[in-house]
Amino acid sequence: MVSDVRNVIIIGSGPAGYSAAIYAARGDLKPLVFEGSVTAGGALMNTTDVENFPGFPDGIIGPDLMDNLRKQAERFGAELVADDVTEVDLNASPKVVKVGDDVYHAKAVVIATGSKYRELGLPKEKQLSGRGVSWCATCDGFFFRDKDIAVVGGGDSAMEEAIFLTRFARSVTIIHRRDTLRASRIMQDRAFANEKIKFAWNSEVADILGEEKLTGVRLRDVTTGEESTLELSGLFIAIGHEPRTELFADQLELDEEGYLRVAAPTTHTNIPGVFGAGDVVDHRYRQAITAAGTGAAAALDAEHWLQEEG
Ligand code: FAD
Repeated sequence: MVSDVRNVIIIGSGPAGYSAAIYAARGDLKPLVFEGSVTAGGALMNTTDVENFPGFPDGIIGPDLMDNLRKQAERFGAELVADDVTEVDLNASPKVVKVGDDVYHAKAVVIATGSKYRELGLPKEKQLSGRGVSWCATCDGFFFRDKDIAVVGGGDSAMEEAIFLTRFARSVTIIHRRDTLRASRIMQDRAFANEKIKFAWNSEVADILGEEKLTGVRLRDVTTGEESTLELSGLFIAIGHEPRTELFADQLELDEEGYLRVAAPTTHTNIPGVFGAGDVVDHRYRQAITAAGTGAAAALDAEHWLQEEG
């Protein structure tokens, strides 16, 4: 199937994609949104309470927030398709977006494909996500006041998360596979100086424990193979992120960590008419509200670009 030429195609249905869709639809651009198949709704589909998205004084459940954004985009005429984009040609005119054998054309494209948190790959990890297992200290630290928690990782972001979490937690154990940290000297010094931080050196998480919520982890000493149980209320996994840029890597400029490069403070990429928004661009803030903000900006940038060039 080959489609008519659309004004704008939006790839992604997290806070960035849906916010872009709301703005583009209200700008009468009749956007077509590819939401993704299994991950439609984005990262917040994997969590329970979201307490820091403005406008919800009592908080909101992640999937409910995404359902609201989805309905709001539909209300203004965004066309939503729960499929994965499999190929793009962004240098063509009009631009080409493929979903399997179906070919779509658009004058402008907004990329809002987010980023993946690296996972440990353990059986209970998904089940207990939002129930003690977290990838975001800024989002969830508040829930662990006076609790014993752990951070997995040895880099700068693991140290940053651990130090931040000491504001709330009773103790923070950094679980690291080696006997030295990868983090910069200054972050190491800060972590070592913090009385609430302890270290489980040469250790990996062999198993995540708990049914309804996290109760602890089974640690394995990587040198001796010995196993022990660490009781915990929270486990923060800080072993890195992977922006979803594989589809665009040979066409768009990426930074050294693989994130889309945009001409900040705008959302323009290096290809005219292609815009980037949300966590696929941002490795600094990684919040729903910042993703929504850049999604809105991308739709406005696309609207202006279409007026002038499209
Ligand atoms: P995402 O939400 O990751 O959405 C990306 C979208 O792109 C998905 O819909 C996916 O289906 C789609 N996609 C990817 N590839 C394709 C493709 N090829 N074709 C079509 N679609 C595609 N932030 C907060 O502010 N507060 C919180 O309390 C909070 N809690 C969190 C809890 C958890 C467990 C996690 C994982 C994150 C949390 N965050 C929180 C962070 C927040 O979820 C992200 O910052 C935000 O979702 C990023 O939005 P995004 O739209 O850029 O990307």
